[in-house]
Amino acid sequence: MREGLLIVISGPSGTGKSTICQALLECFPHMGFSVSATTRPPRPGEREGEHYFFLSEEEFQRRLVQGKFLEWACVYGNYYGTLRSVVEDMLAAGQDVLFDIDIQGGRQVRAQIPNGVFIFLVPPSCAEQRRRLAARNTDCAETIEQRIRETCLQMEALPEYDYWVINDNLEQTVATVQAIITAEKQRVDRQKEADLVKIMRLEVDDL
Ligand code: 5GP
Repeated sequence: MREGLLIVISGPSGTGKSTICQALLECFPHMGFSVSATTRPPRPGEREGEHYFFLSEEEFQRRLVQGKFLEWACVYGNYYGTLRSVVEDMLAAGQDVLFDIDIQGGRQVRAQIPNGVFIFLVPPSCAEQRRRLAARNTDCAETIEQRIRETCLQMEALPEYDYWVINDNLEQTVATVQAIITAEKQRVDRQKEADLVKIMRLEVDDL
């Protein structure tokens, strides 16, 4: 069985990561999504186990001490983390796994799984990002300005990533990320040795 590919979509807050991830999951129906745990309360429409696992701070800390997280971060006062079990099950089943995580998390995942694909989503401009954060209607003006300042700092992490994509047009951004994933899956050095032998013998029917 092929090993699943790990795809990390990261970047500053308000860059449209979750919208892009949703669209990618529609393009790649067999791709799994790494549902994170968080201590922030659910937003309207968010469902337990689908968007997040909503945990109390005590429960989050308990799992942290138990080493249950592949990575974790505190983002604007709330804890977020990727549960190892969620990811390991999908990768073991040969499923590709998509992550929507912040830059601190991306760094921790890269340290442990360097052969993943790390994509940095770039906001088109400060003005547009301010407009998007305001449109979400979840933050006050002061918080939005704090997030813009954070964005400038977070942009410094760009050289740690494999790819950068400016999210100025949803359709175009999804198409670009889709192309990156498709190309990465065809890399010769990502194929298992047994599969490579089959490819070289043109026995590709059951791959
Ligand atoms: P939101 O509360 O808007 O859903 O997410 C806030 C930020 O936390 C976003 O930048 C999102 O990518 C990030 N995030 C969501 N889940 C995780 C996670 O499991 N780990 C880390 N490090 N960041 C996460």
